[in-house]
Amino acid sequence: MRNALSVERPAAVLEAGSLKTASRRSIADLLAPLEQVAAKSPNIVANHDARFELDGESYVLPRYLFVGPKSGDAPIRIGIFAAIHGDEPEGAHAAVRFLQFLENYADWAAGYCLSVYPVCNPTGFEDNTRHSRRGKDLNREFWSKSGEPEVGLLQAELVSRSFHGIISLHVDDTSDGFYGIVGGATLTKHLIEPALKAADAYLPLDKRALIDGFPARQSVVRDTFPGVLSAPPLVRPRPFEIVLEAPKGQSAFLTECAFVAALQSILAGYRKFIAYAQNL
Ligand SMILES: [Zn+2]
Repeated sequence: MRNALSVERPAAVLEAGSLKTASRRSIADLLAPLEQVAAKSPNIVANHDARFELDGESYVLPRYLFVGPKSGDAPIRIGIFAAIHGDEPEGAHAAVRFLQFLENYADWAAGYCLSVYPVCNPTGFEDNTRHSRRGKDLNREFWSKSGEPEVGLLQAELVSRSFHGIISLHVDDTSDGFYGIVGGATLTKHLIEPALKAADAYLPLDKRALIDGFPARQSVVRDTFPGVLSAPPLVRPRPFEIVLEAPKGQSAFLTECAFVAALQSILAGYRKFIAYAQNL
């Protein structure tokens, strides 16, 4: 990609600044359909107050709040996080697609207040790099006194929103199939199984016994690296924590469908769990 660009547009004919921005992937293009919807929807609120500076440029950590139809009790707060690895735009597109879906089928989010963060690593997304432009894997920096501004903003959200559930969307270039990583509340395992089944309608599952170096059973990994995006360490009770990992290099449409189907399944499953718990 970079080579192609330098052939088509010799650096000599471009100002350094315009070359820099010309080669970047556009966050505005990604979010444009959501901005349109948010402008006229009573359900979606766009919030672009979370900002940080890098090399004199101002960046936003985009956040969208989707408030589903009321269903009696206080809304269940869920956080959906995508593209903390900038070279995994599939998750960002799926987050956008999921919000578009909910706009038309809001009942899927009845009783929920969803905080959706489609681009957790804006500079990495622009550069198509796993790391941020400051060279950090942001998904190894949580709750360890990180000085990375994106991590600080996301940690503030994780503290202030006090989520009942946290869902992260990732893409794995070492896997040929969809899988999940679970943590947090024990009920999480009851949410992941149907979520994977839902995703399986669109993409194959990763059935290996070892995934990304961790033991796996039925496409579920129960261990992960230190410093990944998660609830604040001392929070009790723990929210459910699910990472959905799609295989790299599949059809963009099927990948989005798999993510959206898994997200639908988790919302439906958790609502059922809450209703059950309230009747105990
Ligand atoms: Zn990732």
